[in-house]
Amino acid sequence: MNITIVEDEKKLANSLKEGFESEGYGVSVFYEAESAEGKLSAKSSDCSLLLLDLMLPGKGGLELCRDLRSKNVNVPIIALTALDTVEDVIKALDSGVDDFVSKPFSFDELVARVRALHRRSPGIKDMKMVVADVRLDPSSRLVYRGNKAISLTMREFDILQYLMESDGKVVTREELFAHLWPKEDIGFSNVVDVHIRNLRSKIDDKYSKKIVRTVRGFGYSIQR
Ligand code: CA
Repeated sequence: MNITIVEDEKKLANSLKEGFESEGYGVSVFYEAESAEGKLSAKSSDCSLLLLDLMLPGKGGLELCRDLRSKNVNVPIIALTALDTVEDVIKALDSGVDDFVSKPFSFDELVARVRALHRRSPGIKDMKMVVADVRLDPSSRLVYRGNKAISLTMREFDILQYLMESDGKVVTREELFAHLWPKEDIGFSNVVDVHIRNLRSKIDDKYSKKIVRTVRGFGYSIQR
């Protein structure tokens, strides 16, 4: 598995590189966004996870994130950030960030989050799931609406999968939040709404049959 690190603090960037290499990962380091962008956007990119500092000289981390997502680069992104207000978090999620680690962080925590992003559980998740004309394949992490491939970020995919597994049952924001961020106990459940909005813009907005249903005051469910 190859990790790309974009971090302008060279000492931190290099110690992360050393750390992840000793855990067996391949690591590429960039000290600014511009040079990382070309590599990450390339069809040949073998990057499977991006660790992204948000405060960078020149082009910022969030801007890089938005540009990558607009080019359908769906690599999971963990933001390394000192920003942690609800507004910051929502802004980052809107830009396509999947997870956060607040600076200063412990290397062990970061490694655990990287692993968590790639954790896959066996069993039911190996079955293809179908709702209306939406098909979701947990093992390849592909989603189709009709014959059209839908490009989702990791969190959007996880939310859709969880809703489909819940099979019409209403899932609360809190339950989704606990599923997506099992280690957090802070009340950021409104970040779920941001991901839901992004998910809908891809899977529902252009279609007359909507599959993600809002149950006002409770949460969300899948509309069969
Ligand atoms: Ca920085």
